[in-house]
Amino acid sequence: MPEHCPVCGLRYERELGFYWGAMYMSYGLSVGIVVTVGLLLYHVFNDPPTWVYLTAVATIITVFTPILFRYGRVMMLYFFGSVSFDVKYRKP
Ligand SMILES: [Zn+2]
Repeated sequence: MPEHCPVCGLRYERELGFYWGAMYMSYGLSVGIVVTVGLLLYHVFNDPPTWVYLTAVATIITVFTPILFRYGRVMMLYFFGSVSFDVKYRKP
């Protein structure tokens, strides 16, 4: 993650350790994926054996980890970073 926004120059790390909270954001997203995949497997695939649940969830979470990591940070920045976009402060 770059230190500053390449367009407006915003410093992304609002304070020291700001993104620790992003772990909880990505954890929440992961839980949402696990519950969704679990419900889909249960209802659409008629409750397959446990190894299918574990394999499917582990595979999907592993594939989505980079996205969850970034979206956790973005959510942290939007919810707690006091950041809002205004085009008039954009660098030329
Ligand atoms: Zn920016």
